Amino acid sequence: MYILLLGPPGAGKGTQGALLAEALGLPKFATGDLLRDAVRTGTPLGLQAKAVMEAGDLVSDDLILGVIRDELAKPAAAAGVIFDGVVRTIPQAEGMAALLAERDARMDHVLFFEVSNEEILDRLGRRRSLEGRADDDPTAVERRLVAYRDQTSPVLEWYRERGGVTTINAIGGVEEIFDRVRTAVSGS
Ligand code: AMP
Repeated sequence: MYILLLGPPGAGKGTQGALLAEALGLPKFATGDLLRDAVRTGTPLGLQAKAVMEAGDLVSDDLILGVIRDELAKPAAAAGVIFDGVVRTIPQAEGMAALLAERDARMDHVLFFEVSNEEILDRLGRRRSLEGRADDDPTAVERRLVAYRDQTSPVLEWYRERGGVTTINAIGGVEEIFDRVRTAVSGS
C-alpha cells in the first residue's frame, strides 16, 4: 500500500508516519530526512541541496524524482511505502504517478494533515530549540511556508481531483491523531 502524507511543515507527518509505518510493517521514506543525511555526510546530492534547504526553498523536481525512482527500485518498497512529505509540486505528483504506474501501482491513500498557521509557528519554534534545524529559523520558516502555499497546496487539489484524499485533523495528542490516521487508512 502506497500512502502519501501531505501537509505544511510542522504538521506532524514525521511522527505519524513513523507510527503508521510500524503499524503496517512498511518502510517510511522522507525526502527531507534523506536530504539532511546527504548534507551531513557531504555526498554530491547533499552538496547540491544544502544551500537551497537552508534557505527554506524546495530542491529541484529532477533531483527529487531521481531519489524517488531509487527508493521505489528497492526490494523493501515492493509491498508499499509511507511517503512523508515526498511530493511537494505538481511535476513531482505527476512523476510519482508515472513511477508507480510502471509498477502497476498507484497512491492508495493521501492523508492531508490540517493544522492552523499559528500552531505551525508554535511547533516549529519549539522544534528549533530542541533539534536546532537550520531551516527552522524564522526567515527560513517563512520561506518554507511560502513554498508550501505556492507550490505544495496545489498538489492537494491535484490529488483531490483524482480521489483518495482524507483530511486528518492534526491538532491533539499523538495517540489521538494516530487513531484518526488508522481509521483513514483502514477505511478502504
Ligand atoms: P522537511 O524535513 O520535509 O521539512 O524537508 C526539509 C527540506 O528539504 C525542505 O524545506 C526542502 O528544502 C527539502 N525537500 C524535502 N522534500 C522535498 C521535496 N519533495 N521537494 C523539494 N524539496 C524537498
